[in-house]
Amino acid sequence: NKGQTLSKVSELRLENVSYRYPLTSKYVLKKINLKIKSGENIAFVGENGGGKTTLVKLILGLLSPSMGEFTINGIESGSLNISNRLAQQSTVSQELSRYKTFTIKKNVYLGDTLNPLDETKIDQALDFVSLNDIASDEVLGKEIGGIDLSGGQWQKLAIARSVYRNRALLVLDEPTSNLDPLMETEIFQHYLTMANDKTVIYVTHRISMAALAQRIIVIKDGEIIQDGSHDDLIKNEGEYKRLYQEQAKWYVR
Ligand code: ADP
Repeated sequence: NKGQTLSKVSELRLENVSYRYPLTSKYVLKKINLKIKSGENIAFVGENGGGKTTLVKLILGLLSPSMGEFTINGIESGSLNISNRLAQQSTVSQELSRYKTFTIKKNVYLGDTLNPLDETKIDQALDFVSLNDIASDEVLGKEIGGIDLSGGQWQKLAIARSVYRNRALLVLDEPTSNLDPLMETEIFQHYLTMANDKTVIYVTHRISMAALAQRIIVIKDGEIIQDGSHDDLIKNEGEYKRLYQEQAKWYVR
């Protein structure tokens, strides 16, 4: 286990960060400058293909910048100890990891080798996503004849896991896309209340969800084009207001 260790991820900083995928010529992130401090809750919004997921993968250390510098607490990200870093972050995305043949409950705490098992917290996490009534059921693939969960239930499970783990950096990439809007709002509000001493980054294409965050970052064509609160961004003409007005039409029928 090489590299520098951190006691707590507190400041993320991207300076002129550009990224292109291997064997491609197009930069999908272009000179991103961004500073995120502990305690902030941030929504990334923007149309599909703008670069939100790529940016999130850089922040999580799953990709490294092609150009520019990414530092955590002032230390170049690539020189940090990987397991120390992983221990401080958790992510919920559409690509869910799942442990089949284990119970729902075990799926919540499995893989968290860092903390002693906390039964109360497991129950709270399952309660939060309303999966407690099936907590002791085994998750089996359909192919082996057990209960299989719906897309929404898998998302709830992933959310319960992240709530249980309670890490310093939490990144959610469209974690609630299979849930109904009411459940989504409830979950997002919970993450916001968690964010006192941690950083929450939430990727969503729903402006109604983004509007709940303290800070909204609008990403388009690989660039950050707006950065501010909902109240600030809505005052000016721009991509955020355009998306807001466009989506408002969805609800006026
Ligand atoms: P968003 O999350 O905003 O929808 P993405 O970060 O997923 O945007 O995608 C940004 C751009 O990067 C898109 O043009 C997409 O086609 C491209 N892209 C995403 N993943 C890969 C990959 N693995 N290889 C090559 N190009 C990719």
